[in-house]
Amino acid sequence: MLSLAIPTVFALAQDAGVDPSVAPPPRVKQSHVKHILVISQTKGFEHDSITGAMVALYNMGRESGLWDATLRTDTELITKKALERNAKNLDYFDALVFVSTTGELDLDDGQKKDMLSFIKDEGKGFVGVHAALDTNYKWPEYGEMIGGWFDQHPWSTFNAPIINEDPTFPAVRHFPKAFVKWDEIYQPKEWSRDKVNVLLSLDPTKLNYNNPRVHRTDHDFAVAWSKMYGKGRVFYSTLGHTEESWNDPDIRKMYFEAIKWVLGLTDGSTASHAKP
Ligand SMILES: [Zn+2]
Repeated sequence: MLSLAIPTVFALAQDAGVDPSVAPPPRVKQSHVKHILVISQTKGFEHDSITGAMVALYNMGRESGLWDATLRTDTELITKKALERNAKNLDYFDALVFVSTTGELDLDDGQKKDMLSFIKDEGKGFVGVHAALDTNYKWPEYGEMIGGWFDQHPWSTFNAPIINEDPTFPAVRHFPKAFVKWDEIYQPKEWSRDKVNVLLSLDPTKLNYNNPRVHRTDHDFAVAWSKMYGKGRVFYSTLGHTEESWNDPDIRKMYFEAIKWVLGLTDGSTASHAKP
């Protein structure tokens, strides 16, 4: 009896397996690829680093296979209205990145509402690069979303002494506890560390305060932070002013990990903490 039962079981197992003589199905576009919209409209200062930054953000998505990036210098796609001519709107995107945008961007009230809802209600991501803080001063909710606004860069571009305040956060995990970067560090206004998780900050013991452009009496100069805006994750850093910074593996890694984090691909805290 046993000798008859064994071949039957074997035949069933073979049917359930893959026939090596049949070609695999054609590869379909990977559905896990995220879509990011990178905006660099400037109404004020124009940074030389914008092109290099946009290329870097595009390439890191392509090389990792994690996202494709749509690069724009206008704001047409920041809307939930259906667009014609094959143009994508916010519904297509998973995160928005503002690369050294400046001034009052071309956004009507409907676009502003749609952009905030994209982050706050839909839980999609926002990354602000450098002058994203020097943007939309006449739009209070923008300042609330990103965490504040630019108020001078008291030391211009200098060897900034930086402290890593949250080495567990994926975007700054690769930085040592203390380090120096040649960059232009913004002084934020209408900003409080109580509303964000400060990731990087200037070492207050190593700054020259004999400078009329220093306005913060608390000497609290954040260099990067994470926060929530409703359901959405927000990351901002002042690093990335210079063209050279976009060839710096540390800075590229920071923004790569920041985008991954706002997309929800990694975990990191947004809880505020006291000055170290
Ligand atoms: Zn700058």
